[in-house]
Amino acid sequence: MAVNFYITGWLTASAGVGLIKAFKEYGEESFTVEGNKIGIPEELIEEIPRVLANILTENYELKESLSVKDALQKALSPFRNFHNNHVVINNSSIKKWAEEKEGKVKSKDELKKLLEEYLTHVIFENILKSKESEKACFFCNERKAYLKGREVSVFDATVFTPLSGSLETVNNFFYNGRSNLYLCKECELFFLFSSFGFTRTPRGTYIFAYVPDLMETYSINNMLHIEKEFSKEWFDRSVAEIVKNIEKEKADWLLSNIYFVELEPFGRDKSKIYTFSIPPRVARAMKRYLDEYPKNLNSLFGTFLEYIYSGRNLYELLLLILSGYLFSESYKKGGKLPPPIKFGTAQKFLPKYLLFFIKFQEVLDMRDNVEKQINWAYAEGLNLRKEIFRNAENEERAKKKIQGISYRLLDAVRRRDTDSFEQNVIRAYLEVEREIPYLFVEAMKSGAFNRIAYAFLIGLNGGNKGDGEPSE
Ligand SMILES: [Zn+2]
Repeated sequence: MAVNFYITGWLTASAGVGLIKAFKEYGEESFTVEGNKIGIPEELIEEIPRVLANILTENYELKESLSVKDALQKALSPFRNFHNNHVVINNSSIKKWAEEKEGKVKSKDELKKLLEEYLTHVIFENILKSKESEKACFFCNERKAYLKGREVSVFDATVFTPLSGSLETVNNFFYNGRSNLYLCKECELFFLFSSFGFTRTPRGTYIFAYVPDLMETYSINNMLHIEKEFSKEWFDRSVAEIVKNIEKEKADWLLSNIYFVELEPFGRDKSKIYTFSIPPRVARAMKRYLDEYPKNLNSLFGTFLEYIYSGRNLYELLLLILSGYLFSESYKKGGKLPPPIKFGTAQKFLPKYLLFFIKFQEVLDMRDNVEKQINWAYAEGLNLRKEIFRNAENEERAKKKIQGISYRLLDAVRRRDTDSFEQNVIRAYLEVEREIPYLFVEAMKSGAFNRIAYAFLIGLNGGNKGDGEPSE
C-alpha cells in the first residue's frame, strides 16, 4: 500500500519537492509521482527519521567536537524558520533526550547516527504512536487526524511557521485563532520536508518556484541550486536563469504558469511572504532573447531585469543612458548616479549593442519584424554623423554640431514631440545637403517613433571601428 500526499499549491509542492530531494539523497526512489499525487510505500514512513538525518547532515560541517545537545541543535537548524517549536526541534525535546547521552560528538558520522536515533525517538513517541481521532485529514482526506493528548492535531505555526506566522494569511487559515485544518500523522511528517524544497538566498530569504506539476516544479527548483555569485540581484538573476533554461517544448505552458514564492523570516516566528509571477509575454521574450543580452551591458543586467519584471518601459532606461552620455559633464559633478546614467557618462560613444534594449522592448510590445527598421535607423544616424564630420571644418566643430542636434532630438523624444523631432532632423539633413530618408515619414506614424528615434540617436552618437566599435 502506498501512502499518498496531494499537491494543491506551493505549500504542498514545496513539501513534495523536499521529499523527492531527501529520498533521492538517501538512495531511495521507490516513490511514485502521478499528476498531483505523490505516493511512498507504507514501510518507508518509518524510514523518515533516517531520511531526514541524512539530508540534514549532508552539507553539515562539524568543525569542533560538540556536546550532544549543541550538535543536535545545530544540525536541526535548517528547520528553525519553517517549523518553529515543532516537537522535532523544540529545545525541551532536544534537552530531555540529550541529557541521557554522555560524551562529545566528534564526527559527522557520529552526528548522523545520533540524529537518526533522536528523530526516530521523538517522531515515534510523539507522532507515529499517537491515537487517531475521528476527523478526516484536511490535506489528504484519506487518513484520520491524530490526537495530541485530548486535542485533534491541526495544521498550525509549528507545522509550517511562515504561513501561520504571516499576518496577511493568518485570517484565511484560522478561525478565531483556531485552525480547523485537521492533520494526519503522515501529512505532518510530509510538511517537515518543505524546508528542503526552498532554496536559501544570499540575502537570507528563501525562494521556491512553483508550476502546477510536481516533477516540473522539482526540476525547476533544482536549477536554483547552481552556484552563483552573491549579488543583490540574486533573486532577479535566478528567476532569469530559470526562465532561460526551461525546455523549449514545455516553455509556453510553464512560462505562463510559473510563479515564485519568497519567504523573508523576521523575528523568531514571523515571515513575510512575497509571491511573484512574470507576465507570460515578458517570460516569452526572456526565453527567446535573453541569450542575446550583450556582455558589455552586464553592469546593467540587474537594472534591466528590474525594468522588465516591474513592467517599466526600456525606453525609459535608454533615456537615462542617453542623458548620462550627452550631459556627462554636469552629471559627473553630482553625487551617486543611478546605474543607467552612470553607464552613459562612462561611454566615449554610444555602442551599437544598446539597440538590444530597443529590440527587446519591441518584442515585449508584441511588435514583430521591426529589427530591420531599427538597424536601418541606426545606420542612418551613423551616416549622418559621417556626413557632418566630412562637412565640418574640423573634428571639434563636428562633435559640437552632433551634440547640439542630439540635445534637441533627445528633448523632443523625452517630450514625445514628433513635430520638433521631425523639424530638427530635416534641419540637420539640409545642412549637409542630403535628402531626408523616407524612414522619418514612417517614424511619425504611431508606434514607430520611439524605436526609430532612439536607434537614430544611438547611430548619430555611434562609433567607428577605430573607436572600438566592432564592424559587422
Ligand atoms: Zn493527511
